Amino acid sequence: MKVTILGSGTSQGIPVIGCECAVCKSSDHRDKRLRTSILIQENGVNLVVDIGPDFRTQMLASFPGKLQGILLTHEHNDHTAGLDDVRPFNFLFRKDVTLYGMNRVLKDLKHRFAYVFSRNQYPGIPRLKLRKIEPWDDFKIKGVKILPLPVHHGNLEILGFRIDDFCYLTDVKTIDESVIHELRGIEVLVLSALHRKPHHSHLNLKEAVALIEQIQPRNAYLTHLSHNMGLHREVEFELPQNVKLAYDGLILEI
Ligand SMILES: [Zn+2]
Ligand SMILES: [Zn+2]
Ligand SMILES: [Zn+2]
Repeated sequence: MKVTILGSGTSQGIPVIGCECAVCKSSDHRDKRLRTSILIQENGVNLVVDIGPDFRTQMLASFPGKLQGILLTHEHNDHTAGLDDVRPFNFLFRKDVTLYGMNRVLKDLKHRFAYVFSRNQYPGIPRLKLRKIEPWDDFKIKGVKILPLPVHHGNLEILGFRIDDFCYLTDVKTIDESVIHELRGIEVLVLSALHRKPHHSHLNLKEAVALIEQIQPRNAYLTHLSHNMGLHREVEFELPQNVKLAYDGLILEI
């Protein structure tokens, strides 16, 4: 399995518009972060997790060919705002794109992208199929088994995804003991960590590292980073040996 980090930045991305901080001004390519998303490729199946406002740029950089599905963690704008840009996939492959999400998330999209789901469809709108998924209810996409896991994003229950020995958990504040148990000793974990200060709905660096210590993955990568986390090359020195910062374009082979 190959996982590409398409974006590793929090909702504003890095650089932040108008910001003069050292991270936003950095020339290190690892300090430039599009909104959080990954591409998973296994046995000819291409899956994207979340479709934020940078989806177009990310697909230009890492075009995989046909997309067999888009898995949604939750409905926030930085994870869904790129929906209109599935159209090139519709035109190219003459197929609908399938979105997998919790009932609440799909309902929210129908509301926010009303023109996509209206009765009077304007020609050229995105063509989508919606598939409801639930925490702990595993499903297959062309033979690839996906286990959605519940995680808490403040008061909102959202999904993480486990595929084989890989797990992707973003926008996490807390996770239940049952999920920690499920993931203990996994090969690769990608986990969100916003910045250093406490935040009501996101893990900060210290909390993320503590959670990784509990899960004990062989390797962990931190994503959904804010410019307040610091420079990539400096933050990496502070991390335990099995923890690294993700960066855009990073490829993980599992
Ligand atoms: Zn900045
Ligand atoms: Zn969120
Ligand atoms: Zn987010």
